[in-house]
Amino acid sequence: MKYETERRDIVKACLYMNRRGINQGTSGNISVRVNEGFLLTPSGMAYDEMKASDIVLMRPDGSHVGKRKPSSEWRFHHALMTSRAEISAVVHTHSMFATTLSCLGLESPAMHYMIAAAGGGNIRCAPYATYGTQETADNAVKALQDRNACLLANHGMIVVGRNLKKAMWLAVEVETLAAQYWRALQVGKPNILPKAEVRRVMDKFKTYGQVGEPVAACC
Ligand code: 13P
Ligand code: ZN
Repeated sequence: MKYETERRDIVKACLYMNRRGINQGTSGNISVRVNEGFLLTPSGMAYDEMKASDIVLMRPDGSHVGKRKPSSEWRFHHALMTSRAEISAVVHTHSMFATTLSCLGLESPAMHYMIAAAGGGNIRCAPYATYGTQETADNAVKALQDRNACLLANHGMIVVGRNLKKAMWLAVEVETLAAQYWRALQVGKPNILPKAEVRRVMDKFKTYGQVGEPVAACC
């Protein structure tokens, strides 16, 4: 089977996502760039029953190859893969706290320095649009401008990354930030970091950790 390793990695990442508690049922979807386009999870399949052969190959013209119907959100995966040459993976989840903020129409602010991991001083919340529509795709591309994560109002979150491990790591961080923000809001008005400090952390992140080492044990 073509792209067997990448297909297996996507299945593993789906299982990790549910095991890690950052997704709900069959919601969420994952894509990974390959030579001919990108691989994408099938629509509405239970992750623990999903096999490598169920993963769909999406072509740049929007057509697909495979026995399964592609994710209903193929349009935003397609739009992001097309408009963001530097990314190779897109992860979408309906995680509890990111989705809660999105239902309140709130962005995730620079309350904790880890916001810098998402590429700037906030994680924007894209306006609501019906799932699976081009409008959702357009809103997502806009909310993700200069960012690697966004919320989708009344829906969930999207993260992008240069590989699947990096994107999955960021999805967990985005959910953690949302959970911390939600908790802080229960008690008072959280202190927000100044823009200059976020920029400083973004700079430090360029040399943080073990260069070249994997960041999430998802696949
Ligand atoms: P799919 O099962 O079609 O990927 O849809 C899940 C989802 O999250 C829709 O936004
Ligand atoms: Zn969704």
